[in-house]
Amino acid sequence: MTERIGFIGLGIMGKPMSQHLLRAGYPLTVLDLNQAAVNELVAAGARAGTTPQDVAAQSDVIITMLPDSPQVEQVILGKAGVLEGLRAGALVIDMSTILPSVARKVTEAVRARGADALDAPVSGGQVGAQNATLTIMVGGAPSAFERAKPIFEKLGKNITLVGEAGAGQITKAANQIIVGVTIAAVSEALLLAAKAGADPAKVREALMGGFASSRILELHGNRMIQRTFAPGFKINLHRKDMNIILNTARELGLALPVSASVAELMNGLIANGAGELDHSAFITILEKLANFEIGAGQS
Ligand code: NAD
Repeated sequence: MTERIGFIGLGIMGKPMSQHLLRAGYPLTVLDLNQAAVNELVAAGARAGTTPQDVAAQSDVIITMLPDSPQVEQVILGKAGVLEGLRAGALVIDMSTILPSVARKVTEAVRARGADALDAPVSGGQVGAQNATLTIMVGGAPSAFERAKPIFEKLGKNITLVGEAGAGQITKAANQIIVGVTIAAVSEALLLAAKAGADPAKVREALMGGFASSRILELHGNRMIQRTFAPGFKINLHRKDMNIILNTARELGLALPVSASVAELMNGLIANGAGELDHSAFITILEKLANFEIGAGQS
């Protein structure tokens, strides 16, 4: 029997994801604060829900793709929220990037209602959402994962059940540490090279053949050299993710000094008006400290 899906959060990521599910033939009820996004899905065959509670009452599986922890808490646990309309045996899947502790709280509350939940954040960005090639990192029960798998397969390619509730968000946090710190490393490397008089484009090319090569050196390194900072993934959103990492580290009594430095520099970028730029614009805060732009080193 086809699952009826409710989808809440039709933004940069959620809109293309929900369109894939509609095209795959799932009956879909959608909700967003942005009426234009709802209208677009309704024109394509979805139903519009009135509240998260209403969406849940009409759905077997409820997916959320919202900005941050407070929105997920409000939509799922708040007044007229998903929990109030939840049917016994339903499945709630939050695919937003939020605090692992909030993901665990949501799962507990959903399970207490005789339903189940998964945290399933993604990597791959807008292009991955549009092409249904997202990487999906999942936390929750194996039975819930098996149930959700056919849905995930309409949205992504690399789909992994990592562990119990919260494990998907922990994995996403680990992902964002590596991405953030690598962007910082590529920025410092290109800055050092350019200030010393080397052509950063040639340096990047040389490094791409060796142990320091990475997707980030390739893509973001190129954006830094070309000065193409249109997002992409915004610094505002990456700073949110660095805060998730540092808050989680604090809960664990863990020191993450390198991640903390990256987060502080992101604060500096946002204070300098770069929050809506792509995270490859990270290099610009180091250039400000150096009073030197990497392009200036080239002949
Ligand atoms: P977005 O801001 O484009 O979309 C969020 C949507 O949620 C908006 O349409 C907004 O109107 C809606 N919304 C907010 N509060 C709501 C509420 N109370 N009720 C109903 N709708 C509400 O964000 P996005 O880029 O789609 O990102 C969503 C999540 O995915 C974030 O957690 C983000 O970190 C994560 N993510 C984004 C990317 C990316 O490249 N954009 C990549 C991986 C993960």
